[in-house]
Amino acid sequence: GLSTDSDVVQESESISKKSLRSSGEKFEFQAEVSRLMDIIINSLYSNKDIFLRELISNASDALDKIRFLALTDKDVLGEGDTAKLEIQIKLDKAKKILSIRDRGIGMTKEDLIKNLGTIAQSGTSGIGDLNLIGQFGVGFYSAYLVADYIEVISKHSDDNQHVWESKADGKFTVSEDTWNEPLGRGTEIRLHLRDDAGGYLEGSKLKDLVKRYSEFINFPIHLWASKE
Ligand code: ADP
Ligand code: MG
Repeated sequence: GLSTDSDVVQESESISKKSLRSSGEKFEFQAEVSRLMDIIINSLYSNKDIFLRELISNASDALDKIRFLALTDKDVLGEGDTAKLEIQIKLDKAKKILSIRDRGIGMTKEDLIKNLGTIAQSGTSGIGDLNLIGQFGVGFYSAYLVADYIEVISKHSDDNQHVWESKADGKFTVSEDTWNEPLGRGTEIRLHLRDDAGGYLEGSKLKDLVKRYSEFINFPIHLWASKE
């Protein structure tokens, strides 16, 4: 039958929610990264939980870096800088988004392209064993165990705020961020959860996981869950 106006609006909204911005500058992942992402996405790897450990540890590294810089440069965390050195995790049940935000060092546009598009270490050609994910930490890309679309919003003091985004289809885009709220400093990782990963939107489940992975983290972690 005919669709009503409201149907049409709903449809276009749900499409736009998971579509990449067409205006962004386009890049291809290094071949090794693409291969690694394919393995991650197609895997039936049972311990998907580890994505949270990886993202928390990256947030903690970024906070360590800004704290270290502040030791030698008193302007880095000056008196006017009220942003706490903490990690915030938010669950948006309606949008099915899990986001992790830190007040750490952040990434410039160049950092986003290099750090989230290539694998720095040499000798990665042996990747193929899924146990590597658990043993050595595949890091950021493990987020694709639970997400099919990821946005990384980041602000480093040397650059404007940028958004990195990818559906793990061999390419990613980077755009200057003119639409999100300014972060001030740091990084927000927005995971648009896969349909089979909705469980991570449950506050109690996340709380247990955060507890488990925060044991050796030296910064406070706050967890918010939307009611619906
Ligand atoms: P690793 O942490 O082992 O270097 P990852 O895949 O976890 O590898 O992360 C790749 C790189 O991306 C990091 O080395 C860091 O430079 C950058 N990065 C990831 N997450 C963040 C973040 N929250 N803040 C700043 N930089 C980050
Ligand atoms: Mg890491």
